[in-house]
Amino acid sequence: MQLLRRGDTGPAVAEIRATLVSLGLLPPTNGHHHGPAVFDLATEQAVRAFQQQRGMITDGIVGPATYNALAGARWRLGDRNLAYLVSQPITGDDVFALQERLLELGYDAGRPDGVFGKQTELALRSFQRDYGLGVDGMCGPATLRALRQLAPKVRGGRPVFLREQERVRMAGPRLRGKRIVIDAGHGGRDRGVLVAGASEADLMWDLARRLEGRMVATGMEALLSRGPDVCPAEAERAQFANNAGADLFLSLHVDANPSGLAQGVATFHFGTGNGPTSTVGEALAGFIQRELVARTGMLDCRTHPKTWDTLRLTRCPAVRVEVGYLTNPDDRRRLLDPTFRDIVAEGILVAVKRLYLLGKDDQPTGTFTFEDLLKYELAKAEG
Ligand SMILES: [Zn+2]
Repeated sequence: MQLLRRGDTGPAVAEIRATLVSLGLLPPTNGHHHGPAVFDLATEQAVRAFQQQRGMITDGIVGPATYNALAGARWRLGDRNLAYLVSQPITGDDVFALQERLLELGYDAGRPDGVFGKQTELALRSFQRDYGLGVDGMCGPATLRALRQLAPKVRGGRPVFLREQERVRMAGPRLRGKRIVIDAGHGGRDRGVLVAGASEADLMWDLARRLEGRMVATGMEALLSRGPDVCPAEAERAQFANNAGADLFLSLHVDANPSGLAQGVATFHFGTGNGPTSTVGEALAGFIQRELVARTGMLDCRTHPKTWDTLRLTRCPAVRVEVGYLTNPDDRRRLLDPTFRDIVAEGILVAVKRLYLLGKDDQPTGTFTFEDLLKYELAKAEG
């Protein structure tokens, strides 16, 4: 489609203006309307307001993403029947409302994304089964009535993320039996950051193996998202974790910068910045970041919310660690040292342990050793 911006006229502009009016972002035009609809300053400001609400780039221009979001925004729950159409999934704000409603009621519809997918259908079918409705996976009038009559079981936050918290609490403090996907970045022909013969793909593969070894020793189930010589797409890595029913997803990368001075460690979790955030992801990112900074003395580049595919498409809490800059001499020296990679693996494992301890531990950051951890796991197993 062509981009629509200030100064444009025509039926597409009229459609956009009508949607913005229906959303209350543009005052209705009074009386008779003469001539073609104009994309004027007020329209541009309303588009910006809409984009800001949706966490999109606020440029006031209607491109494909904004156009689709506007088209989806026209639908209110109940305007049409909703079902899983495999070839062309239904999208819109009504789907988003349905997903949020199912989540409020305790059904795992996945992260609300406004797309009626397989997971939405499964959640809807469970709901229909539990409430004695016809189980057809379609949101028609009877299902809608039932959905509206019921009071939500969860209040006071984004239910999907409250469910994550609840799952961590229910999982208990022991590491044994927890299933973790370790995702070494890049691989195969994609070497990632490459400096003086050292590649991100190989270093992160090595780090992943060290972490895997320690996790297995504590009784965890550690799964690697890739082999040593392949590079699955980000979405495939997320799918791998979903299929495995993983408890956590840990992605390992290093960073690069044209300036050799850029250095330090940073950790990322799912979040839009001004909207929903994975609270468990954020907590785990914080533990990892603090342990790594305390244990390695690297510069603290803090934790940040991102909507990257691996963070967004995983159903379990996911974090990505950028263990320093391969383009920085100090960080590179560290990364090339196997002892440093052991320290990082240990720090990440202790951070995972802290997550499941729910903050109920008295060991100061950076001092909990692998031996402590094994002792703790063993004591719990006996007691
Ligand atoms: Zn990378």
